[in-house]
Amino acid sequence: MLNESVWPLLYIGLSSMAVPASINAHMAIEQEIARIAGLRETHAAMEWFRSHEPELRDWQLEVAAIAAPPFGEGPRAHWLRSRFGELGLEEAQVDRLGNVLGVRPGADRNANLIAITAHVDTVFSAETPLNIRREGDRLCGAGISDNGAGIVGLLALASALRSVNLAHSAGLLFIGNVGEEGEGDLRGMRHIFCESPWKDRIGPTVVLDGAAIDTVVTQGLGSRRFQVTIQGPGGHSWSDFGVPNPIVVLSRAIARFSRTELPAEPKISTNVGVISGGTSVNSIPESATMRVDIRSASKDEMERVERALREAVEQAASEYPKRSRNGSKGISYEIQLIGCRPAAELDPNARILRVIRAVDAHLGNRARLHRASTDANVPLSLGREAISIGAGGSGGGAHTLQEWYDPAQRDVGLQRVLLTVLALAGVPK
Ligand SMILES: [Zn+2]
Repeated sequence: MLNESVWPLLYIGLSSMAVPASINAHMAIEQEIARIAGLRETHAAMEWFRSHEPELRDWQLEVAAIAAPPFGEGPRAHWLRSRFGELGLEEAQVDRLGNVLGVRPGADRNANLIAITAHVDTVFSAETPLNIRREGDRLCGAGISDNGAGIVGLLALASALRSVNLAHSAGLLFIGNVGEEGEGDLRGMRHIFCESPWKDRIGPTVVLDGAAIDTVVTQGLGSRRFQVTIQGPGGHSWSDFGVPNPIVVLSRAIARFSRTELPAEPKISTNVGVISGGTSVNSIPESATMRVDIRSASKDEMERVERALREAVEQAASEYPKRSRNGSKGISYEIQLIGCRPAAELDPNARILRVIRAVDAHLGNRARLHRASTDANVPLSLGREAISIGAGGSGGGAHTLQEWYDPAQRDVGLQRVLLTVLALAGVPK
């Protein structure tokens, strides 16, 4: 999961707005959850989560140790495909884009599949020392929770269902998708939902991202990302002194952009996440680059701040001639859109939301609705039902080398996933 913000609407608030018909529907779903939870096979699956925790940790350490930078998820995807095969998922495959898929068929072969997804990519480059290790009861290292926890959630669900032979009506489509983080720009999910042969076979989607079970992401935070490149003639720091310096121009643009006024509501955030440029301390650089991230649930605000970014760069560049006095090239710039995620929102009356609320009520789990940028943005933006939730346990330090994961009570998170998926798929009486 990427950056997130609380949407201060508790379940209790939604219930009070509900009309009688939906209260009836809600009660029916609660009864159905209680029935499914009371089945012998469901108990056995829940027990499987508890008794197999040591194996889940081993999987998590193993998968997190395989580097999976954006556009370099191949080795991790192949590892996951092998596990899907071992767990008896049908049609286990890595698709053209690198997504891993496998099906657990349901009794009703014509029903839409329930997709359970977890992104396999990390924010870390191929060279990053991931340093995956145990520290007491904790698992540590880059990517261990985001999304080691989600990937293990897929495997735990597939494995438990198989071992207890639990029948469900709709089939389950397990997906380890590429391209959730950063420059990946949700490419894995876009492919699955817009181009792949699966796109019309998928019903509701449950995204597993990270650990925490105190949230349900129902609003897709939008984002626009830019790469800004300033170019100049470059030269020797002494003999060419006076030639415009792209790093200085870029710095001025950043200073100007950072003064852009941002409202508290609707919330909008900006970040200059990467800067690079130059070759040596005694060379005037030929180019300097930055990457900028703008996020909001408000499209209008994002457009306004995008204009401010363009003006800041234009202003900074315009302080220097486009052509220097001796006719050589002066300062030029380019602003490239490198990421665009749709803002989107789940219908508050969607069945998937009623199901997870009923599951949380059954488990005594208090969860808030959240707004975030996750893989769920893609199905949500297409008007499909989707939520993003954690896979249990707890974690911290996401997107840093200090990331950690604590598997205590992971089984509660997995029970939550299991009951949600079974209720969506339907369990024959
Ligand atoms: Zn994530």
